[in-house]
Amino acid sequence: MVTRVVYPGSFDPVTNGHVDIIRRAAQIFDEVIVAVFRNPQKKPLFTMEERVNFLIKATEGIKGVSIDSFTGLTVDYVKSKNAIAIIRGLRAISDFEGEFQMASMNKQIAGGIETIFFMTDTKYAFLSSSVVKEVAQFGGDIGDMVSECVHRALLEKFNVDKS
Ligand code: ADP
Repeated sequence: MVTRVVYPGSFDPVTNGHVDIIRRAAQIFDEVIVAVFRNPQKKPLFTMEERVNFLIKATEGIKGVSIDSFTGLTVDYVKSKNAIAIIRGLRAISDFEGEFQMASMNKQIAGGIETIFFMTDTKYAFLSSSVVKEVAQFGGDIGDMVSECVHRALLEKFNVDKS
């Protein structure tokens, strides 16, 4: 049996913290579908197409990984893909409450779909898409936090002069 899991998220944009979770999940499961969530209530910095493309580039060479996007209930998407579980990442304690609530809700509405959590690597514990966007906006160096394509896109977006 192929073990397939779904790692859903906004990925606005993907950071090295996300890639670390993807790499570790791919070592355990046969197939990891990274699925960008289209949330009509959120106004992302990057378009769906940009976020998907960044993920494709950032995960190049990691075996068993594919990139997709979806809208609607995560659990419906997970079922449509015949996946066995949802993957999420945990950083600080502050992540716990929201993730616990969502995992419990998903399990209840979807007849037992489990969420599997990967603890962040300590070097990514303070890394988030929002922090990266904030630092980049004011010209801070984010080169070690994101992949090359995301770095370039952020510099362009905020018109930061590298010279
Ligand atoms: P959301 O899906 O809540 O909008 P993201 O797209 O940023 O948030 O993240 C998707 C998932 O990856 C979430 O479970 C989040 O906790 C996790 N995550 C984000 N950044 C990191 C990191 N640096 N280390 C570990 N997990 C992370």
